[in-house]
Amino acid sequence: MIWYPFTLQFEPDSPVKIVRAKEEFLYDEKGNSYIDAISSWWVSIHGHNHPKILQALKDQMDQLDHVLLAGFTHDPAENLAAELLRITEGLFQRVLYSDNGSTAVEIMIKLAYQYFQNIGETQRKTFIKFDTSYHGDTIGTMSVGGDSVFNRVFAGLLFPTKEFPTPNCSFCPVGKKPDSCAAECVNAVESYLEENPNSIAGIVLEPLIFGSGGMIFYKEEVLQKLERVAKRFGTLLLVDEVFTGFGRTGALFAYQKAKIQPDLVAIAKGLSAGTAAVAVTLTTEKIHSAFVTPDPAKGFYHGHTMTGNPIACAAALASVTLFQEENRLDQVRNLEAKMKKGLKKIAEEFPNAIRDCRVLGAVGVLELEVGKESGYTYPGNKILKKKFLEKGVVLRPLGNVIYLTPPYIISDSSLEKVFAAIRETLSEISLGK
Ligand SMILES: *Cc1c(COP(=O)(O)O)cnc(C)c1O
Repeated sequence: MIWYPFTLQFEPDSPVKIVRAKEEFLYDEKGNSYIDAISSWWVSIHGHNHPKILQALKDQMDQLDHVLLAGFTHDPAENLAAELLRITEGLFQRVLYSDNGSTAVEIMIKLAYQYFQNIGETQRKTFIKFDTSYHGDTIGTMSVGGDSVFNRVFAGLLFPTKEFPTPNCSFCPVGKKPDSCAAECVNAVESYLEENPNSIAGIVLEPLIFGSGGMIFYKEEVLQKLERVAKRFGTLLLVDEVFTGFGRTGALFAYQKAKIQPDLVAIAKGLSAGTAAVAVTLTTEKIHSAFVTPDPAKGFYHGHTMTGNPIACAAALASVTLFQEENRLDQVRNLEAKMKKGLKKIAEEFPNAIRDCRVLGAVGVLELEVGKESGYTYPGNKILKKKFLEKGVVLRPLGNVIYLTPPYIISDSSLEKVFAAIRETLSEISLGK
């Protein structure tokens, strides 16, 4: 029996058995179809079962299934690494492979920490984070995540960090307006570093969108200010692009959209577009050079058994190539315009039920007004999910935050069906009681 992830074990609904998928559609064993409006936890960016990725998988399987990546190498890992360094425009020089978003972030944290140990700045031992961050489910990544129902029970196991309020351009934590602010929301970070200039190894955050924390958007200037602050105090900037990477915000990477230069970047989800477990951490020669020493104590000992698996790398390379071959970023721009129009209309039709409507790239959000019940544990969440599913749409609101993260290839008619399912569901439930 499976213990399903993120599934309360008390009286769970039986899961829907999916037998095949194509483009934005999932098909269950009874022949029902569902529009996957969240790209199966944000991964299936090209839609499901893209023929070019499938072909790359098959070709690679005929050639080489696996070989360890220490003492050995292979074309898929080398070619994918070269392509990633190319599309990140020379900012990074080194690629570390792992299997998922949590491990990619874990590697960023360990590299940043050990970098300062290796160069003798041994007092830089902790990280700055934001209170609705999510970086994964391992002990290390939970430590740099904001306090939430996900990690609270493990508080006693988490390493200490310095936490700040999340930048949030819909509900500004310092009472400013996005069009006239000067990123005052992160002034507290700067003041803290002025008082503690040598204790922080890095600032860890999700660029432009805090995803799992509730699809919270903030503007590029905040990242630019954090970059300036990090440089001024000699601390590293660790950017978690696990969700935002590969087009989600409209640019290939959110840090590129914000025109900043992080020291480390973690990439997963869209990397292999839901076809294989592979992730990367990119870093610079500056960081790498601190590990180039004959002293074994200064080596970086981190690798997972399946790291850089050839089949996974081949799938990822095919996925990355599709961005040019099929004009993905143009599709994201179109999708953004359509979601802006469609979701705004819904928000206007239900002014009392919706407290915020926001769209950035291929992420569309309708935040429900549910008073004190807002947050991940919003009790109406289960009903919402069920109602969407009954209408043939996969949406999994984060608490009271309904969001769309569709495959970039979603058709106009499917998108209209998703809007219709939201509209009908909002008419059926009564909010604000
Ligand atoms: C999903 C996610 C992770 C964790 O990735 P996994 O592959 O689930 O381990 C880390 N950071 C962000 C921003 C994510 O959205």
